Amino acid sequence: MILGHYGVALAAKRVGRKTSLGTLILAAQWADELWPLLLLSGAEQVKIEPGRMAANPLDFVSYPYSHSLLMLCVWGSAFGLLYFALRRYVRGSWIVGGLVVSHWLLDLVVHGPDLPLWPGSPMRVGLGLWNSIPGTLVVEFGLLVFGAVVYVRTTTARDRIGSWGLWAMLLLLAAVLISGFVSPPPPDATTMAYSALGLWLFVPWGYWIDRHRTVEEQDRRAVGP
Ligand SMILES: [Zn+2]
Repeated sequence: MILGHYGVALAAKRVGRKTSLGTLILAAQWADELWPLLLLSGAEQVKIEPGRMAANPLDFVSYPYSHSLLMLCVWGSAFGLLYFALRRYVRGSWIVGGLVVSHWLLDLVVHGPDLPLWPGSPMRVGLGLWNSIPGTLVVEFGLLVFGAVVYVRTTTARDRIGSWGLWAMLLLLAAVLISGFVSPPPPDATTMAYSALGLWLFVPWGYWIDRHRTVEEQDRRAVGP
């Protein structure tokens, strides 16, 4: 899953208003941000297998450190504790930690049965929504639109960067997903890993947008004419 993780990060702003969108994105996408680094270091493996699933050509041979449920709980705890140490914002710590774990739950919906429960677990799970392109598109865009609506209702742009920066990010995310469908699969795992490093771009972008938006004190719906 790609867009869904950003949708959840955007929506989390509503409950963790003092936490920057950059941190929320870093946490929700931690598994996919860490993954290319582990692929390039040789600690995890992937194979390109066009046609494996309708909406995904990747065979996730081994990714226990970035994508097992146990390790995401460990990473989530580390994120929560570190965030608390830096910000002393308890609610934000729970949200940041929870977002790291949410990655596994969202991936569970789309992946084939390749997600380990813990490193080395014989049982690997996945509900396989990637077998359906329409189903994948509905869930991916549904979550992104939901998150964008919640974020826009929770914050107000202070200037043009605050609004255009957000819309540009949403458009680029949509383009990333669409290009995955229309362009040929990556030639090899190393090329794919290098291109996946591009996901890191959205972390500073999230901080940048968030600094140019103000959190609404009150729900707009509650402010009558
Ligand atoms: Zn993932």
